Amino acid sequence: MQNVEDKIRGMVVGAVTGDALGMPLEFHPPRPLNRLVRDMEIGPLPAGTFTDDTEMALALAESLLEHSPLEGGDFAQRLLAWLRNRPADIGIHTSRVLNLIAAGINWQEAAERVQREDPGNAGNGSLMRAWPVAAVHHANLGLLIAESRLQSQITHAHPDCVNACVFLNLVLSDLIHRDSNKPTGAAIRESIAASLTKVSLGSEFELVVNLAPVRQRENLANSGWVRHTLESAFWAVLTTYTFEEALVSVVNLGNDADTAGAVTGAIAGALYGYAAIPEHWKGAIHGEYPLRSGRIWFLQDFINLADEMMELG
Ligand SMILES: [Mg+2]
Repeated sequence: MQNVEDKIRGMVVGAVTGDALGMPLEFHPPRPLNRLVRDMEIGPLPAGTFTDDTEMALALAESLLEHSPLEGGDFAQRLLAWLRNRPADIGIHTSRVLNLIAAGINWQEAAERVQREDPGNAGNGSLMRAWPVAAVHHANLGLLIAESRLQSQITHAHPDCVNACVFLNLVLSDLIHRDSNKPTGAAIRESIAASLTKVSLGSEFELVVNLAPVRQRENLANSGWVRHTLESAFWAVLTTYTFEEALVSVVNLGNDADTAGAVTGAIAGALYGYAAIPEHWKGAIHGEYPLRSGRIWFLQDFINLADEMMELG
C-alpha cells in the first residue's frame, strides 16, 4: 500500500535522481534510440551528481523549513548565498536577477526589471526547484498555490513560469493523495485534468499540456522554455509504464535534459512511489550543498528531508 510518506519520498528522491541522470546529457542532441543512456554517467560532474536544479530546491526546502509562511526575502538571500559560492551551472535569467539583488535591488523588483528587458522570456528556472512546496503543502491547496507563485516570482515573474509552478505542484499534490490502486495512466490523466481546473495556464499553454502524450519524440525540443519542460515531462510519464522508462525517455531527449529529468522525476516519483525508483540510481545520487561547505548529500539525507518537510505540512 503506497501511502503519502512513500509518495513524498518518491517525489523528492525522484527529482534528484532525474537531475543527476540528465546531467551528462544536458546541451547534447537527442540520443539515438539504439544508444539510450540508462545509467548514471560521468558528464561535466561525476556520475550521479545533482546540479543547480537540486541545489536551488534545497535552498527552497531550507527556507520553507525555517519560515512558515515562506518569506520571499529569506529565500532570495539563500539563492544569493548559493550564487556567491559560484555554482557550476546557473541559468542566464536566474543569474541576471540574482546579480541585481546582489547589487542592492529589492527582491520584489529584480525579477520584474529583468522581465521588462526581455518580456517574452519564460524559462524553466523556477519550475526546476518548485517541488519542495508540494512536499510541505500537499494538504493545503491555498498555501500550495500562494507559495508556488512566490517562489517563482523571486526570479521568474513571467505568468507562464508562475503558472507552471502552481500547475506542477497541484499535479504533485493530487498524485500524492490519489488512490494508488488505480492504473497509473488513469491516475496521471485525472491529476492533470483536476489541476487544470484550479489554475489558468491560458489556452496555448493548456494545449501544449493536453497534446503532450500524442507528440512524437523527434518533435520535442526539450529546451529551457518552461512550456517545453512540462511538455517533455508529461509526454514521458504518459507514454511509459514505469519510473525507469519515463526517466530514460525524457533525459535522452538531450538539450535541457537535467531539468526535464528533475521535473519528470518529481512527477513519476509521486505517481509510482519511492520503491519504484531503481536501486542503482538511488545509490548513486550525491552532491555538495551548501556549495563549498564540504557537506555531501546522499540518498538518506534526501529521505530525511522528505520526512521533515512532510511533518511540517
Ligand atoms: Mg541543472
